[in-house]
Amino acid sequence: MQEKYDVIVIGAGLSGLAAGIRLAMFGKKVCILEKHSIPGGLNSFYQRKGVQFDVGLHALTNFAKRGEKGLPLTKILKQLRISYDELDLKEQFFSQIAFPDLSLSFTNELEFLVEEINKNFPEESDSFLKLVEKVKQFNAFSLDQDFVSTREILPQYIKDPLLQEMILAPTLAYGSAWENDVDFSQFVILFRSIFLEGLSKPMGGIRKVLGLLEKRFNENGGILKYKSPVKNIIQNTKGVEGVILKNGTILKSDTIISSAGFPETMDMVEEELPPKISPEVGSFSFTESIAVLNKKPKELGQKAATIFYSSLPKYKYENPKTHYGTETAILSFPNNFEEDPMEEGMARVTFLANYNLWKQLDRASYKDKKEEVFESSLRLFEEFCPKIKDHLILKDVFTPTTIEKFTNHKKGTIYGSPQKQKRGTTPIKGLILCGTDQGFLGIIGSLLSGISMANLHGFSPTQGATS
Ligand SMILES: Cc1cc2nc3c(=O)[nH]c(=O)nc-3n(C[C@H](O)[C@H](O)[C@H](O)COP(=O)(O)OP(=O)(O)OC[C@H]3O[C@@H](n4cnc5c(N)ncnc54)[C@H](O)[C@@H]3O)c2cc1C
Repeated sequence: MQEKYDVIVIGAGLSGLAAGIRLAMFGKKVCILEKHSIPGGLNSFYQRKGVQFDVGLHALTNFAKRGEKGLPLTKILKQLRISYDELDLKEQFFSQIAFPDLSLSFTNELEFLVEEINKNFPEESDSFLKLVEKVKQFNAFSLDQDFVSTREILPQYIKDPLLQEMILAPTLAYGSAWENDVDFSQFVILFRSIFLEGLSKPMGGIRKVLGLLEKRFNENGGILKYKSPVKNIIQNTKGVEGVILKNGTILKSDTIISSAGFPETMDMVEEELPPKISPEVGSFSFTESIAVLNKKPKELGQKAATIFYSSLPKYKYENPKTHYGTETAILSFPNNFEEDPMEEGMARVTFLANYNLWKQLDRASYKDKKEEVFESSLRLFEEFCPKIKDHLILKDVFTPTTIEKFTNHKKGTIYGSPQKQKRGTTPIKGLILCGTDQGFLGIIGSLLSGISMANLHGFSPTQGATS
């Protein structure tokens, strides 16, 4: 007998789990299929030599204080029935945007950044506040907006080219699928989430967050199947009909919500029926070097949680011509939050990377190239955290091919396809996207995406699920 569900969700990443919880909570028979043996996708975890690593948690954006109403974090927790205390969030000390001749610091209080701008760009003080007002008023969560270039809008507010670049740096680095630009509504979401709301960290790391989500899904009667890679999505003349797993099992449903990515999902669709479409695959990926230390970075003089670094006055956010680009980077120091339960010190550097070049390497050259990435990362660490080398006890590097292998995202893209589907729809009836390629990304963005797509498409209009 073939299993039949109201909704099948592909992927137990953050968006898939959030979608599953909403559907199960409102009585839908829902099954999440995950190809791996653990949840998390791009934001998962592993252990090496006794050290716990989070793959994709530098910092949680969209901080909200307990009881603060109307913010994305508060809304998400309410919709998923997770209490604020369960997350155990601790705020960053501060973060930095570090350019060749100037660094700007920011905390979770906007006034701090406003002061920094008053001090370093006095002629831009008013315009920055006007930009903040524009960002606050803008309806970034509208599902009906086309791409608008932030590089065209920003100069209408900020005249100084250096300040434009410094404001753009964190928003590009933390979520743009477009080279050297970002869709304005995405910019607004990222600006709010980084500068207006701020950065924090759940004390149990991403394991804790994923554990809470999985528990909530199970409690509501959802079925989560690990080691269940979907090979094909089946359709008939009316729309989707179900999925075939790699082992040949067929599961039926006329609503499938996929978090696998737009091009990846369309590749799974059996091709007998038109239309065949091939969405654009994102053009760049990242390497990440992780240094485990026998001292905390703050004891070595570095207290920033995150540093958005540029060696050039114009922020370069494009697919590098070489295996990785060192002109821009994100440095992250997971110990630098209000509380720090980690035993060891840790520092991470993320560089933009060219997937195609990594993919061509043979085994030996791949290993050498990873060593080279780590050496480049160490040189950058030393600029911000002198003597770090003397305290290194363990290192790890992951590359675009690692990301592709563990998440199935084509070319190891983290920010997905530049073709976002804000309403989640695809050309096939009943086949819905959530997560990165729907358009909301990052940890909070993915959760929001899963919730919104479940609310929008998982229920008939009379059923509704809004509270
Ligand atoms: C190095 C790195 C650092 C990051 N840092 C941060 C950060 O500091 N803060 C932040 O907010 N965000 C960060 N992010 C981004 C954030 O992790 C992602 O935006 C978010 O996790 C995306 O979630 P998702 O559910 O959309 O997709 P995914 O996590 O990609 O989930 C998709 C899931 O689908 C599964 N899947 C795919 N194909 C199939 C198939 N055929 N069958 C079954 N299952 C399938 C995958 O295995 C995966 O589990 C980071 C990401 C990375 C990689």
